[in-house]
Amino acid sequence: MKILIVEDELELASSIANYLNCEKYICEVAHNYTDALDKIGLYNYECIILDLNLPDGSGFDIIKFAKMKQSNSGIIIISARDGLNDKIEGLDLGADDYLPKPFSLSELNARLRSVIRRRHFNGQIEYCYYEIKVQPDVRQVLVNDTQIELTRKEYDLLIFLITNQRRVLSKETIIEHLWGDFMGIEADSYNALYTHMGNLRKKLQDAGAKDYIETIYAVGYKFNLD
Ligand code: CA
Repeated sequence: MKILIVEDELELASSIANYLNCEKYICEVAHNYTDALDKIGLYNYECIILDLNLPDGSGFDIIKFAKMKQSNSGIIIISARDGLNDKIEGLDLGADDYLPKPFSLSELNARLRSVIRRRHFNGQIEYCYYEIKVQPDVRQVLVNDTQIELTRKEYDLLIFLITNQRRVLSKETIIEHLWGDFMGIEADSYNALYTHMGNLRKKLQDAGAKDYIETIYAVGYKFNLD
C-alpha cells in the first residue's frame, strides 16, 4: 500500500518513511507543496500524511487539490498548528484525521490502520469474501479459517484486487500500485507482476479458495465474486 508523506522537515519525513516502511507500506516523500501536487496529480495513494505548513504553500490547498482531482486517498494531517480552527478546517475539507505534532510514530501507524479499515473494510478488523477472510491490521489472510502465508507483494496485490472488486485493473495500474515510482513500466515489472499473480493464485487455490481472479486478455485482471 502506497503512502505519500508531505513534510518539509527532512528528518521527520525520513523517520516516518523508515518506520512505515518497516510496517510494510511503500512510502514516497514530497518535501514541498509543488512536489506534493505533482505526485497527487500523477499517482494514487492509499493515504496522504500531510503537514500543513510548507515552504511554498498550504496543506489545506493540497487537500482541496486532492478532492478536486477526486482522489480517494485517505488524508491524515500532521501539524504543529494545534489550533481548533485548523483542525476543523482540515476535517471539513475532507481530511480523515488530525494528529498534532509532536506525535509518536506508533500512534501515527494506528491512525493509518484505522483510516485503511474505514476506507476499505467498513471499519471492521476482519472482513470476509466468501471463504477468504482478511485481517487488515495484522495483514493476514485466511482461507476457510486457515491462515495462508503471503509475501508483502502478494498481500498488497490481493487487497488491491479485492478492494477494487468487479473492476478491471490494468497491468500498469497494478504495477504502479505495487512498486510506486521506484519501478518503471518495463518488461521486468510485467514479469514480476505475472510471478506474484501466479503465486498468489496458487496459494489461494491450494488452501481451498475458488479462483476469483479473472484474467482479462491483453488488459489486466479483475477480482470477480459473482
Ligand atoms: Ca512544516
